[in-house]
Amino acid sequence: MQTRPVVAVNTRAVARLRAGHPWIYRSDVVSAEGIGPGSLVEVKNERGRFLGVAFYSTASEIALRLLSSEKIDNVAELVCQRVRAAVEYRRKLVRDTDAYRVVFSEADELPGLIVDRYNDVLVLEALTQATDDRELKQAVVAELAEQFAPAGIVERAEPRIRQLEQLPALKDGLVYGEKTETVFTMNGVRFHHRALAGQKTGAFLDQRENYAAAAACAHGEALDVFCYQGGFALHMARVCPHVTGIESSRPALEQAEQNAALNPGLPEIEWIEANAFDLLKDYAAAGRKYDTIVLDPPAFARSRRALQTALRGYKELNLRALKMLRLGGILVTCSCSYHVREEEFVEMLAAASCDAHKSVRILEKRGQSKDHPIVLTIPETCYLKCVIAVVSH
Ligand code: SAH
Repeated sequence: MQTRPVVAVNTRAVARLRAGHPWIYRSDVVSAEGIGPGSLVEVKNERGRFLGVAFYSTASEIALRLLSSEKIDNVAELVCQRVRAAVEYRRKLVRDTDAYRVVFSEADELPGLIVDRYNDVLVLEALTQATDDRELKQAVVAELAEQFAPAGIVERAEPRIRQLEQLPALKDGLVYGEKTETVFTMNGVRFHHRALAGQKTGAFLDQRENYAAAAACAHGEALDVFCYQGGFALHMARVCPHVTGIESSRPALEQAEQNAALNPGLPEIEWIEANAFDLLKDYAAAGRKYDTIVLDPPAFARSRRALQTALRGYKELNLRALKMLRLGGILVTCSCSYHVREEEFVEMLAAASCDAHKSVRILEKRGQSKDHPIVLTIPETCYLKCVIAVVSH
């Protein structure tokens, strides 16, 4: 067994680990002198008792991410074993799609690693100093190649995350095979994927099951606000004669239009490039009415401190949408801000319905798709809220 550097942690950290949470904050680290970025370390309490093996970051406030509560001989082997377990989990649970998240970081006991599958192209992202290690990434790529025999694996890098982790800038690029573009199908709807373009790893895979749920209730004239590449809009177009998508990013809209063309037989969808806040205000003032409205804004609260401002933003949007919904109209309203908890989101919606003088019933309270598992002891793994409601009078 290799000897590894030791990080001592205080009793608060011990209690956190015992409660099933893999993170230890820097303020709970007692000593970590001279330990290099991304090291694999042994975690011990102040009396020297072994608690587990963790990834260390010299930059993040999350100093340690626990990998195992037992000693590890070969880290690459353990990581590959966890990748196989993650793949197996999706094979059992994920249906009606060839695009889904294969590895979801802490939720798959692989802290700092994301892998998404888009048909025959995989996208990998390392979020921490430890998972950015070249050998570790090579081992993961080899395991993924064996599991999926993909035509390409692309590594993507989010500059903001790399900066926070004090990692050097990295250009997105192929790390295996040749292919960086493909077509994937979820719930029978086809989408283009360009692994070297777009937001996140290409699509918002966490909404996949919500697309189907929204389409099951959608009817009449539908509006998809913050539509990105048309996830909700394209699903709704299968059941709604009129669909409009609103989005501020032109490249996203161009791809939405190309996605629509991949699905023959759908009614024409109107794509509007606009600031959703301004457009909803104008539409509401003009007395426009809809039968179905989807609201899927970007995260408004990036920290708990931003909560009140975020809730005001959500309320403004939801109020406008509720005012524009006809009797029997469906609201599909989402929040991907972890810091806005479900209860707070539902309270905001209640206040918006009061102000809109509408009586609203909740049909479904939903979350992220099953390929983004929620681990009970790690609240941060549960972030997406999607409420489907009907205007009853
Ligand atoms: N519903 C989409 C995901 C939406 S993500 C899907 O399922 O794929 C949020 C989107 O809102 C992003 O595409 C972002 O470009 C867009 N956006 C951010 N601010 C906006 C604004 N003020 N008006 C319109 N769109 C905005």
